[in-house]
Amino acid sequence: MMTTIKHHLTDDILMGYSAGTLPEAFDLVVATHVSLCDECRARMDSFDAVGGVVLEDCAETAMSEDSLAATMALIENGDSVAQAPRVASKGSVFPSPLQEYVNGDLDAVKWRGLGGGVKQAVLKTSKDASVRLLRIPAGAKMPDHGHRGTEMTLVLKGAFRDEDDRFARGDVEIADEHLHHTPIAEEGEDCICLAATDAPLKFNAFIPRIAQPFLGI
Ligand code: ZN
Ligand code: ZN
Repeated sequence: MMTTIKHHLTDDILMGYSAGTLPEAFDLVVATHVSLCDECRARMDSFDAVGGVVLEDCAETAMSEDSLAATMALIENGDSVAQAPRVASKGSVFPSPLQEYVNGDLDAVKWRGLGGGVKQAVLKTSKDASVRLLRIPAGAKMPDHGHRGTEMTLVLKGAFRDEDDRFARGDVEIADEHLHHTPIAEEGEDCICLAATDAPLKFNAFIPRIAQPFLGI
């Protein structure tokens, strides 16, 4: 399927996924986006490759024992946690990383009403962040939500707009406490999104800053 994804993941988030330092809820959004997005998959592959280069450089560069050990730990961790997400299977709404959490496609979701026709289904992940599916009726406003930490919203079906942008299938919006917006689902089709949030924890704490000097980012 040809998609025209305009809103992508940041390098920091892709690197955090590669290093295995993101909460499970964010890993799921990343894996689901990457399975829909050739561009982010290519960038992720390059981060995985850089991990290997860093490992080689460590052997030759004079570096403190601590930073070497920390880098090795990040890289080892990354190998076990970050597996390259598979490409989305044709004809289904949910890419395979998400299907594994839902135990099926859209028709397997156990929705709960939130009022105003909006429905949600919270998916089971580790407690450091949470992730839910949201179903917003065509033309309706998103439920009110603050951005206390970081929120990543990936559109799976339909589209929504806010003050300055449009988000359709595959697009991911990354919001923090500085963003105030009123997303509204487009007319014509219900909007189904996968949304992860880490409040009250701060997402930045999960990004592997120790790797940044080595990666030159
Ligand atoms: Zn992308
Ligand atoms: Zn938001």
